[in-house]
Amino acid sequence: MADHPKLAPRSTEDIENQMLVDKAECKISVNVVDFYHNNRMVVIETQEINETGKVIYSRFKLHLSLLELHAPVLANFLTQALESVEGTEENPVILPFTTREFTCFLDWIHDREWRPFKIMEESLVDLLRVSSTLKADDGISYAVSGLESLRLPSARMLQLVGDFHHLPEVHCWVGPAVKDLIQRPLGEITNSEAQQIAAAYPTIARTRENIQRLLTQVSQRSFALKLADKDQQEEADLCLTHKECQKAWKLVWRENIGYLLLDFQKPLTYRELLELLQNTDFPKVNPSCKARMLNWLSRKTDYPGMKELVEEAVASIEDIYHVPRRGPAPENPKV
Ligand SMILES: [Zn+2]
Repeated sequence: MADHPKLAPRSTEDIENQMLVDKAECKISVNVVDFYHNNRMVVIETQEINETGKVIYSRFKLHLSLLELHAPVLANFLTQALESVEGTEENPVILPFTTREFTCFLDWIHDREWRPFKIMEESLVDLLRVSSTLKADDGISYAVSGLESLRLPSARMLQLVGDFHHLPEVHCWVGPAVKDLIQRPLGEITNSEAQQIAAAYPTIARTRENIQRLLTQVSQRSFALKLADKDQQEEADLCLTHKECQKAWKLVWRENIGYLLLDFQKPLTYRELLELLQNTDFPKVNPSCKARMLNWLSRKTDYPGMKELVEEAVASIEDIYHVPRRGPAPENPKV
């Protein structure tokens, strides 16, 4: 190999001087594209008091670009703060969150494959709290669907409705939670669940009592084998021994069915009742009368009066949690 003369190492100063000369002589042109605007860095502080009464300060140095994407209201506020020389190391912007809450929000913003946001109840609730304060819609949607996917106990869902009742996204949690809770014997509701639903507990207890009363009435009435509408009545007239059918129906109901509705721990649901009637032998009942009765009963979805009781409980608990009631569908505007 031929020897090439080695260039002597040049100092930074030499290079800079040479560039200045070249630039002055128009030998080079320098375009500066500033992808990273240092003047868009902002310093945020959170403050909290720990168990020993000590104030803990935490500082977060952030670039505004990600906040603009995920929390535009905050980004806008911080941009204005920077203009008035806030959000600096000397004068940080103080936000009303705990370190854990705000860290969690930043973890969600920086969610990456190699560093995924943890889908856990605590982190999602923190995310929801920060996002709702900052009006960060994406964060709210993410936290709401995350919490729904965890299938938390109904009492906890109601408690969360209470905490976040100002968010319309959580209003639809009330109905399923109330329906679940009123199905359960009060004795099964633990102390911590009772605390979570404190304000709603009396309504749930009262509704459960009303349901027991309604089931007692149904068990005594036996859904007598008489028929509801005219067509069916005409068909029933074809049964020559229909009085016997009715008597036999009542007897089987009294001995084998009615008491199951009074089971305090787990009363029969309407669907279970239909299945039971289908599978119960009713000797001395004309099979076509039984089939017609079951057909009539299966056109209903629940015990008479049950839907109203449940709706009343849901509406009353919506009031307790300041959830606006869903009004009737809007009418067509008058032309
Ligand atoms: Zn009959």
